[in-house]
Amino acid sequence: MARRTRKSGDDTGPRTHDHESQARALLHGQGLRCTAPRLAVLSTLARAESGAGHLTISAIHQQLVEAGRKVDVTTVYRTVSTLVDLGVLHALSVDDRATTYGLAHEPHHHAVCTRCGRIIEVPAERLTTALAHASIGSQFALSDRAGLTLRGLCPDCQPPSAATSPPLHRP
Ligand SMILES: [Zn+2]
Ligand SMILES: [Zn+2]
Repeated sequence: MARRTRKSGDDTGPRTHDHESQARALLHGQGLRCTAPRLAVLSTLARAESGAGHLTISAIHQQLVEAGRKVDVTTVYRTVSTLVDLGVLHALSVDDRATTYGLAHEPHHHAVCTRCGRIIEVPAERLTTALAHASIGSQFALSDRAGLTLRGLCPDCQPPSAATSPPLHRP
């Protein structure tokens, strides 16, 4: 990840280069072709990982348009669907909200804001112990890949004064 190639001009670009190389690596790692729409969609979701995590088709499209890319929503939809089929992305629908998409490269769970619908990814290893306990209590074989969906309020939706307990209990 922290590749330190010292070529002149490396530091001038914005951080989007990181996300694009991350997108490239994701495609190459699975032997998939790096088409422009795939790179654009994956870069957008790679960037979203530090914020919202998952995005809807229209949000992906909007961000691409804002970044100056000429891409229509149908292309975004087709590209995302292909990437889901290929296992690079995964789809998540919670309740009756619009389906969102995120990178499928690492096992993770999802925390959903019940007010604004924002979906944040939670690395699976943080909940491995909880999952193990849950497995003991049930006959279910729970896998990291299956993922849990947690509900709560995202930082933006939490009332400013309330000292509510954090969304995730850290031991
Ligand atoms: Zn996800
Ligand atoms: Zn929220």
